[in-house]
Amino acid sequence: MSATEDNICARGGCHFHVALVLVAGMALPTTHCGDACADYEWLRRGLDAMEPTPDVAALYTNLRGVADILDARTDPTEIGALIDA
Ligand SMILES: [Zn+2]
Repeated sequence: MSATEDNICARGGCHFHVALVLVAGMALPTTHCGDACADYEWLRRGLDAMEPTPDVAALYTNLRGVADILDARTDPTEIGALIDA
């Protein structure tokens, strides 16, 4: 059993460790290294749920560009949340 493998960001292609979030004074691991990867997965799932039209294909292309930017980071905090909510 490798605890290290389990603590890698859930976004494919990302090798950063997950972020920790404080819940009731305890540091608990999240599923992604930061807001950017979590937002990315949320966007990708949204596209996966849509009809595969040419517009959606173009959005996938844009999303791959975002993935390239995320993959180029040397630190997960270089890019914060993708979505201002
Ligand atoms: Zn990540």
